[in-house]
Amino acid sequence: EAADTKPTAFHHMLARMAQDNRLARLYTQNIDCIETSLQPLITQVPLPPKAPWPTCIQLHGSLDKMVCQKCRHLAQFDRDLFDGPEAPACPACTETDELRTTTGQRSHGVGKMRPRIVLYNEHNPDEEAIAAVMNSDIRSRPDTVIVVGTSLKIPGVRRLVKSLCKVVRSKPKGIAMWINNEPPVGKEFEDCWDLVVKGNCEEVARLAGLKQWNDNTPQIFDECDDLDIERVK
Ligand SMILES: [Zn+2]
Repeated sequence: EAADTKPTAFHHMLARMAQDNRLARLYTQNIDCIETSLQPLITQVPLPPKAPWPTCIQLHGSLDKMVCQKCRHLAQFDRDLFDGPEAPACPACTETDELRTTTGQRSHGVGKMRPRIVLYNEHNPDEEAIAAVMNSDIRSRPDTVIVVGTSLKIPGVRRLVKSLCKVVRSKPKGIAMWINNEPPVGKEFEDCWDLVVKGNCEEVARLAGLKQWNDNTPQIFDECDDLDIERVK
């Protein structure tokens, strides 16, 4: 199901902003990899512990990759392997174990592959790298934070949003923006925003009407010369 999903108008808007170097970072709670399918919003798995980091940071892993629960072997997710009732065996463990048993050594067992996603309260294999990029982004003192479509239920996400809003709003021209069908919940988010857009982010993107990220046609508006000004008088 996830594989058939296409980027939305809002994902395309983010990609255009990234392409124009106007998006410093995208933190996503999505695991479906829809945004990272757009080239300006690519990510890296595993997330590197040090800069440079990719544009998109996946906070809960992704369905694009699968990982062995025993040896941490990483591979591209293959949905056909997950058709049966049993999780698929790890090819790396299988190879190592076959080598062991055929040379008369004791089997160490074979791990099972699972999607590289982080379920609630589970350890995140990218935890330290995510903390490092978050701290670096907060220290860089961004001008704008736009929080879109999250219910802010995850404590780590709440802390990130709170920190970013605080640092953005400590700047004279900083703007903290909330776009969602629902208002932000919780006392800690009461005095956090300069602009609250109650509505669908897709509609926001449609109204903004940015060009596709890979559309290099020139801007449609030109500078006016004296003749143009004369004409509209
Ligand atoms: Zn393994």
